[in-house]
Amino acid sequence: MSARSATGAVLITGGGRGIGAATARLAAKRGYAVCINYANASGPAEALAAEIRQAGGRAFAHRADVARQDEVETMFTALDREFGPITALVNNAGLTGQISRLDAAEPEMLRRVIEVNVLGVLTCARAAVKRMSTRHGGAGGVIVNISSAASTLGSPGEYVWYAASKGAVDSFTIGLAKEVAGEGIRVNAVAPGMIATEIHASSGDAGRLERIGKTVPIGRPGEANEIAEPVLWLMSDEARYITGEVLRVTGGR
Ligand code: NAP
Repeated sequence: MSARSATGAVLITGGGRGIGAATARLAAKRGYAVCINYANASGPAEALAAEIRQAGGRAFAHRADVARQDEVETMFTALDREFGPITALVNNAGLTGQISRLDAAEPEMLRRVIEVNVLGVLTCARAAVKRMSTRHGGAGGVIVNISSAASTLGSPGEYVWYAASKGAVDSFTIGLAKEVAGEGIRVNAVAPGMIATEIHASSGDAGRLERIGKTVPIGRPGEANEIAEPVLWLMSDEARYITGEVLRVTGGR
């Protein structure tokens, strides 16, 4: 086992692209050893891990579908082996599915979004709590779930199922925070608004970011790094008395 880093080891699900990649980069800068999870896009995840290592940090990329219990367990075991005990989990992996009304949505797509956005978060948090909780002999830790402003806006006509999945993430954040607060673990969520990543084009509406970005009170879409910074703050000791919160980071939406 390699020596531990100053701030510990963080697992960032969906860490190869978008908000996850910005969070991985910033976590490495702040001294975390970083496990960058991805589902399909090995290129960006491996490149980011190499970039972090070249800059003197510690990182490796690991493929796992967060909705698969067996793959999640293998990933956590790999992290245990590479970096020692996990100290932070960022549950960032997520997808919207194709934009449509609910009555036009494919049932298989609905199932997949709930599976990744809800079951994936539960599965990774479960594996983290088993390792972090003082009840299980762990030394504590922090979990940050990436929710969405959709959980309070509802996303009518776009993806109400995605909004519902993020509502579940918010409820889970509140409940798990209370469940493990006495075991050295803080659990919070960040709910981003309109952030410039590939998720909007992947939803089938390439112009969405530019169109809706203009309507944001602050006057523009956010950058991935503007989510990574509050995530790292919630992970830090500066937020040591904060747990069970959902922090909206939306430019005023
Ligand atoms: P993105 O650029 O589309 O990236 C999504 C990431 O999730 C990718 O790294 C992808 O892996 C990963 N992923 C998807 N399914 C997965 C699975 N089953 N297992 C493991 N990883 C999986 O999206 P983003 O905008 O950065 O979104 C990140 C998070 O922020 C999501 O939870 C999203 O709901 C939330 N969010 C985003 C916005 C926004 O405006 N961008 C707003 C609110 C909330 P691959 O690279 O392998 O495909």
